Amino acid sequence: MKRQPITFWTTLFVTLVCVALVALDIERSWAARKVLLEQTERNATNLARAMSGQADDTLRGADTTLADLEERIETDGTGPRELRRLNGLMASHVRALRQLNGLSFYDETGRRLVSFLPQPHREASITDRDYFTYHQRRADDGLHIGKPVASRLTGAWVIPLSRRIDKPDGSFGGVVVATIDMRYFRDFYAGFDIGRHGAVALLSNDGTLLVRRPYRQEAIGTSIVRTPLYAAYTRVARTGIGEFRSSQDGQVRLNSYRPLQHYPLFVTAALSKEEVLAYWWRDTLIRTAGVLSLAALLALFGQRLVRQMRRRLQAEQELREARDALADLNATLEKLALQDGLTGLANRRQFDLSLGTELSRAARQATPLGLAMIDVDHFKAYNDHYGHSAGDDCLRAVARAIRQHTPKRAGDLAARYGGEEMTVLLPNTDEAGTGAVAEKMREAVEALRLPHAGSPLGIVTISGGVAAIVPRRGDDRAGVLVEHADRALYAAKDAGRNRVLRHEDAAAG
Ligand code: GH3
Ligand code: MG
Ligand code: MG
Repeated sequence: MKRQPITFWTTLFVTLVCVALVALDIERSWAARKVLLEQTERNATNLARAMSGQADDTLRGADTTLADLEERIETDGTGPRELRRLNGLMASHVRALRQLNGLSFYDETGRRLVSFLPQPHREASITDRDYFTYHQRRADDGLHIGKPVASRLTGAWVIPLSRRIDKPDGSFGGVVVATIDMRYFRDFYAGFDIGRHGAVALLSNDGTLLVRRPYRQEAIGTSIVRTPLYAAYTRVARTGIGEFRSSQDGQVRLNSYRPLQHYPLFVTAALSKEEVLAYWWRDTLIRTAGVLSLAALLALFGQRLVRQMRRRLQAEQELREARDALADLNATLEKLALQDGLTGLANRRQFDLSLGTELSRAARQATPLGLAMIDVDHFKAYNDHYGHSAGDDCLRAVARAIRQHTPKRAGDLAARYGGEEMTVLLPNTDEAGTGAVAEKMREAVEALRLPHAGSPLGIVTISGGVAAIVPRRGDDRAGVLVEHADRALYAAKDAGRNRVLRHEDAAAG
């Protein structure tokens, strides 16, 4: 695998941290949502259970009272004394049970024989009431729960509970009726926290709506037979939970429903999921906004960091490249440098190169190649006396004189051989010709009349040794030529300096 740069890993790291941050937030929000919905389900279920129990208890209280009254009427009869006692009994029951709006006893013709109603009321016939005709037609079968009605006696909305009275011969002898004030349920339901969009209701098994919160007068007594909730209650399970659209206001709610234990009624507690989730949404949005800004900040910071790193790396890279380029350049320059820095003459390298090429050219053309070796006389003493820097000046002056007297043909070359030794390479020139050129140079330096306290002559002078050969092809005669010139130079020094000697003469002498 290719090695990735540090910026790649930094980018990856920052990206991962950002993604992890957002992912964690989403996961957390989702878990919170799940918990909230589960809690809502539990709340609805608990609510339904409480409602069912309360309704059961409420009805049972009234039922027991009615059963008691029925038994008394049937055994004691309906004489005036018995009726008076009955009235007292009714009064104590109504006072004892808060849910009771009133108790009444009607004979088989629908005439009210005795009743107890705490509120002011008026007279009314009940022969057309459901419960009256119900009991009239049917043998005794316990408690009957009627549809909610506006009481004809008090005007209050009530649920009538009734029992049939049998005459001693078993024929219809009237009804005892207990009316349950709807406000009793409404007060109880008002105590629940069901949010702004929740709803609770008490219904009979035939689908009739008895009590509901939120309360709407016109909804009471209507049928919910055609609703999905009723379908679920009757066909799927008596106790259950599910999301249903309300027939009352069209809202979708989470409905928990269950029947009463002893009576043919059921209750439903419905909470709005949307309402519950609205809180969750608000919470989630605020936190998500926070997390996103944090991630954005982190990303921004990371981006800056990476950019900074990239810039630094680039600068480093450029620096390295520049350094390498410089090193390369220096190497090339070194190679290319063929001039001597001090004197401006060709340097030793160029001299060696030229010597090689001129030798082979001379060999090809069978022409002589001349070489003069020139050395400043008593130069050590000059340095000692005038200083090294003055020595350099002197060298420059001598070099200038030598250059001036170097012929200008192609291939003619004056070079600094090393120290204060200089050479002049003259292609196509024999020893005599080379000697003549060197002699001119010697005269030129002498003519400069540069003072030299360390020399017997009192001025700067040079000595020269010259040689020339006609090289043969394939022969390396470079060493020989230099050696000959050198030997002649030594001879010139030996002979007293300030002179030019030829190799021929030196060898002969
Ligand atoms: P001789 O007449 O026998 O040549 O005597 P010399 O003193 O010149 O002897 P030699 O050639 O051995 O001495 C060379 C001296 O030249 C030694 C050194 O101090 C000096 N020299 C060599 N190169 C330079 C240079 O570049 N600048 C200066 N100032 N002096 C140099
Ligand atoms: Mg020397
Ligand atoms: Mg010298």
